[in-house]
Amino acid sequence: MIEPATELPFFYGSISRSEAEQHLKLAGMSDGLFLLRQCLRSLGGYVLSLVWNLEFYHYPVEKQLNGTYCISGGKPHCGPAELCEFYSKDADGLVCTLRKPCLRPADQAVKSGVFDSLRDNMLREYVRHTWNLEGEAMEQAIISQAPQLEKLIATTAHEKMPWYHGKISRTEGERRLYSASQPDGKFLVRERDESGTFALSVMYGKTAYHYRILHDKSGKYSMPEGTKFDTVWQLVEYLKMKPDGLVTLLREACVNQHSANHTPAVPLVRARGNGYTPPPEVPGACKTLTSLPAGRQTLPMDSDEFVSPYADPKELQEKTLFIKREKLMVDEVELGSGNFGSVKKGVYKMKSKHIDVAIKVLKSENEKAVRDEMMREADIMHQLDNPYIVRMIGLCQAEALMLVMEMAPAGPLNKFLSSKKDQVAVENVVELMHQVSLGMKYLEEKNFVHRDLAARNVLLVNQHYAKISDFGLSKALGADDNYYKARTLGKWPLKWYAPECINFHKFSSKGDVWSFGITMWEAFSYGGKPYKKMKGPEVISFLQAGNRMDRPASCPEPIYELMKDCWTYKYEERPSFVQVEERMRTYYYSTSKKVSTETKEDEEKPAD
Ligand code: ADP
Ligand code: MG
Repeated sequence: MIEPATELPFFYGSISRSEAEQHLKLAGMSDGLFLLRQCLRSLGGYVLSLVWNLEFYHYPVEKQLNGTYCISGGKPHCGPAELCEFYSKDADGLVCTLRKPCLRPADQAVKSGVFDSLRDNMLREYVRHTWNLEGEAMEQAIISQAPQLEKLIATTAHEKMPWYHGKISRTEGERRLYSASQPDGKFLVRERDESGTFALSVMYGKTAYHYRILHDKSGKYSMPEGTKFDTVWQLVEYLKMKPDGLVTLLREACVNQHSANHTPAVPLVRARGNGYTPPPEVPGACKTLTSLPAGRQTLPMDSDEFVSPYADPKELQEKTLFIKREKLMVDEVELGSGNFGSVKKGVYKMKSKHIDVAIKVLKSENEKAVRDEMMREADIMHQLDNPYIVRMIGLCQAEALMLVMEMAPAGPLNKFLSSKKDQVAVENVVELMHQVSLGMKYLEEKNFVHRDLAARNVLLVNQHYAKISDFGLSKALGADDNYYKARTLGKWPLKWYAPECINFHKFSSKGDVWSFGITMWEAFSYGGKPYKKMKGPEVISFLQAGNRMDRPASCPEPIYELMKDCWTYKYEERPSFVQVEERMRTYYYSTSKKVSTETKEDEEKPAD
């Protein structure tokens, strides 16, 4: 699904060596003529095919465990494009520099590989199965966590396969193969006694044959002297196409009837929708996960807050804008406060579960204007449903007017980062800000303007899960409107506002993009205060003179470039959230390997 080479005009996808040579011949065989193709054997790997002196040279480009790409013995590069650019200037061990790209003919699409759709489907199956997600929630989960998911799948996918039987003896494997019909090619994979190594058992002529699956130092799997693969499931798929030394091709899976007994690497953390499991008796005790596999980072989908509590059809039936007071327990604990009143912790009793909530309680002495404001905020929140936006549960009119929301227990992003500077890696901040961009892309698409996007209004569910909150100033734009025109001046967060917001009171998603830039600056300076000592009006002249805030010390250069683009003076020339999210995503995917090096599993792998 993530193919970083797609955009390269000399990338052909999954073509064979001889097809590659054919293309190079047709293009004239000049010295330094080259093309890039996909490598079948390694996930994310390529082959660079190059001409020199009328001969062909094929260099495998491997994707390293840390996410970089390199030709054996060469320097690492962050992507295939960067790698090719490097070798166009410096041969560095190749027969010659890359001189002329052999362009893919316009009528020829990038050829997709055997594993491409398989991998994509597997990702979907995995997300569906593990978190019980469907539709839009599944898409959001995949976009926001693709690197982590790919890695999880690469190492654990075989455990979910029907042909995988876990740790059973050779005799038990034979018993299972013989227990029903025994066509040629019926097979299973089992774990051998020594943990981490596998064996393949396959039927042929009513006899069971056993093969050890080799696992080399670099982590690749193969048959003895056969093609090497990154994962066991790829090897199995390959052996369905080519025998690679086996007595027969693999055909029918000997289905593991006992699979429920094998604990998958990622347990079914929680079931939703039809497979809904009620929470434990103690209210509020259901927040944390039952168990996470050792060393795995928490993913947003592990939290209850990833999907709406009303995603369960039984709960949806009961949904009303105003909720009953007796179903709400208000705690004395204050999470925050404002001039409207205070935000308190609480628990809401739904039909089949209790959920932790944050309750915005309106001070009773407040005048009507403040009450109206809260009603407007509720009206906006009511229309939104996205994993990266704090959802409203309902309104409650009792001793006070109360706006009941999903709880984001780790609090505002700025405070979190300033108090945990040493524990939060820059890549982690990238991950969180990418999630904010996903939430903002959703708002932009729905034609809402937030108007108060700032690190203080990004709340964290946990260290790896952010949600946009505080819709107190937000507006829904009409279908034909590009912006909202404020008639009265309010208490505006001027340092977060784009020039057109301040000067002409025009608010659009482009204005939110400017605020996103400021929010990024706050995040990458770990909760720093923007435009430090300047007053509002000073900031305006500072910007008008073409100045922008400096790059925070730990902010990566590409992120600072994006930040500055968010601060494009003219809103017409500023990127939209569609573009901002895409750039965040690209950068995030390119660095996220480092995020997952926090996991124990990586520490045990040999360094490369
Ligand atoms: P204001 O308009 O006063 O800024 P906010 O909606 O930002 O109101 O809420 C104020 C504070 O209350 C937040 O900074 C945060 O600490 C806390 N808070 C608000 N909503 C939540 C929530 N859903 N989960 C946890 N804390 C919250
Ligand atoms: Mg706020």
